[in-house]
Amino acid sequence: MKIDFLIVGQGLAGSLLAWQLIDRGKRVLVVDRDEAVSSSKVAAGLVTPLAGARFNLPDGFEERLDFARAFYWSLEEKFGETLFHHRRIARLFSRPKEQEAWASRLEKEGERYARFHAPLTIDESKISLPYGGFEMREGGWLDVPAFLELTRQTLLERAAYAIGRVRSGEVEIEESGIRWKNITAAKVIFCEGWRGNRNHFFDWVPMNPAAGDILELNIPDLADEGRIISKGSWLIPIGGGRFRAGSTYHHRDHEAETNAAGADEVLAKVRVITRVPATVLQHRSAIRPIIRRSQIFMGLHPAHPQVAFFNGLGSKGVVNGPWHADRLADHLVSGIPLPEEADLRRNLL
Ligand SMILES: Cc1cc2nc3c(=O)[nH]c(=O)nc-3n(C[C@H](O)[C@H](O)[C@H](O)COP(=O)(O)OP(=O)(O)OC[C@H]3O[C@@H](n4cnc5c(N)ncnc54)[C@H](O)[C@@H]3O)c2cc1C
Repeated sequence: MKIDFLIVGQGLAGSLLAWQLIDRGKRVLVVDRDEAVSSSKVAAGLVTPLAGARFNLPDGFEERLDFARAFYWSLEEKFGETLFHHRRIARLFSRPKEQEAWASRLEKEGERYARFHAPLTIDESKISLPYGGFEMREGGWLDVPAFLELTRQTLLERAAYAIGRVRSGEVEIEESGIRWKNITAAKVIFCEGWRGNRNHFFDWVPMNPAAGDILELNIPDLADEGRIISKGSWLIPIGGGRFRAGSTYHHRDHEAETNAAGADEVLAKVRVITRVPATVLQHRSAIRPIIRRSQIFMGLHPAHPQVAFFNGLGSKGVVNGPWHADRLADHLVSGIPLPEEADLRRNLL
């Protein structure tokens, strides 16, 4: 079988790249281990424009956000399925320092931030609001498992998906491409998630994975709340008084085990938002693929241009992934230079 691109891994990274390459008329084969748990299958899929205690709005964020939403929207329109749930975020300050950080942002960058905020009203008999807050606009969450499944079905229809494990040692480098089993391709792109450097081509990549826990909760008293609530942790309404709650963040490079400590940590964070009764319906854990300082790494192997890498989507894969996949596809297909900060070859040290 002769194809243009062999993609290893069908998480968010491999899926996004597959769409971009197919859009450019390329023949792909995506091979995935089909594990029950992966970062993409567990992810909350949140898009939080003003993230962290400092409400940082990184350079280029607006372009990536607009690109991501247009991309998910194009799939929704084509397949008639909702993938991205637009939700405002009730952002509650957890300490006076956050109030100060917010005031200072508005003073210095008010014009740029205007698009992303509105005044907040909230029922303080249910939600604890000691320091105030604001309503964040243009947030939401991607139903990542639904996106993965839609991608998988589309690939299956094109005979472009297979369950299996590609071991890097089985990939033979040939002059005009690579060979894996009976497949020949111009390039192979490894999108393996947190185990991305357990691969002899990329064992030098500084992976720094972080495990995380997410709960599904039943909170009947908040059944009318349609916004995401965020105060260090977050609650995402998914309908009928049920919420996703999360998350924890602990650097770890071995298989995630779901244990009571992770659930307790998330519940304690939820208690800072609300004291109304909450019952745990489900608890899941997975490991996020983080590289060094939360950098996305992509591009061609320095010695083998037939071998490429796309990884490090980190905690913001939903918003950053589509734009980067588009740039990587342009690079792979047309040789257009990659954004410097994400280019694997420019970040060897
Ligand atoms: C608790 C938690 C909460 C999160 N919340 C958010 C959030 O709110 N917003 C957000 O944007 N991001 C969030 N993330 C991060 C998000 O999950 C990641 O950015 C993204 O899903 C990573 O996708 P990936 O494809 O790189 O990796 P993965 O999802 O790990 O996918 C890798 C895939 O490759 C397969 N694979 C690996 N090696 C091989 C091989 N050799 N052969 C074949 N297949 C292979 C794996 O089985 C897997 O299917 C969260 C993550 C966690 C764990």
